[in-house]
Amino acid sequence: MPKKRKNRGRGKGGKGKESLVQCEICGALIPRSKAKKVTRRISFVDPQLEKELRKKGAIIPTYTTTRYVCIRCAISLGIVKVRAKEERKKREPLRV
Ligand SMILES: [Zn+2]
Repeated sequence: MPKKRKNRGRGKGGKGKESLVQCEICGALIPRSKAKKVTRRISFVDPQLEKELRKKGAIIPTYTTTRYVCIRCAISLGIVKVRAKEERKKREPLRV
């Protein structure tokens, strides 16, 4: 059977079963290796004010949040994009 992707769209290998995670947007249960992990740094201070405070040497706490997003939601949100056949083989780190 022809394969669309070498890793079948996930990073499991020959591992067998793996734990499920919930998509933060639609709530679907998806295998951990198939989910897209989006990490963001969040600050509670207004970005413009934060920039000024940093200039003056203030230390502002930032928090890191991790979200799991399923492939369908990741494509509709623009986190990952549909790629051409040849481009699909390139392995690039996830941005955003
Ligand atoms: Zn989803």
